[in-house]
Amino acid sequence: MKHNRLRRTTGLAMAAALFAAAPFLSAQAQQQHAHVHGQLKLDVAVDGPTVVIDMESPLDNIVGFERAPKTDAEKKAVEDAVAVLRAADKLFVVDPAANCKLGPVDLRSGALGLGNPDPAEPVGHADLDATFSFNCTNASAAKFIDVNLFGALKGLRQIDSQIASAQGQFKRQLKRPAGAQASQPVRLSWGK
Ligand SMILES: [Zn+2]
Repeated sequence: MKHNRLRRTTGLAMAAALFAAAPFLSAQAQQQHAHVHGQLKLDVAVDGPTVVIDMESPLDNIVGFERAPKTDAEKKAVEDAVAVLRAADKLFVVDPAANCKLGPVDLRSGALGLGNPDPAEPVGHADLDATFSFNCTNASAAKFIDVNLFGALKGLRQIDSQIASAQGQFKRQLKRPAGAQASQPVRLSWGK
């Protein structure tokens, strides 16, 4: 969410200031931005008539590398991944009680030349950030989202999520289901 982005930007500015004063601190500053392959973050906001899902993922989870694609196979992998992410109502099935339709999908990755990437994106460990917006007739009724990311992203092991809704704020961790279950959706639920 916006708060998170702001914090990262502020962190970068601070890191830049520290870097100027004391270069040895830069490694530590870089550490704060390190992502973990196999994990991604989802921030879900149920706000007014919308359900907005912000995703921050190491690019490795999405395409298996973290730089611009070089070979035809890599370019194809990027095209396929972008198509999967744009069809976000297959990745995220919002509680039918909320009666949502997929709205804008915004994808950002400096390495892939997509959108307006986060300037704090760490060098050598590229991310793909995405915002998936759903327009709903009864958004506040949403109590869960069935998440298909484990089926779509083979290397994904864990999702750390935060949900902000009228029912309150929640933190949820989803783990990759074992074996054949991994292709099944995993329910991210909150509220009562
Ligand atoms: Zn990485």
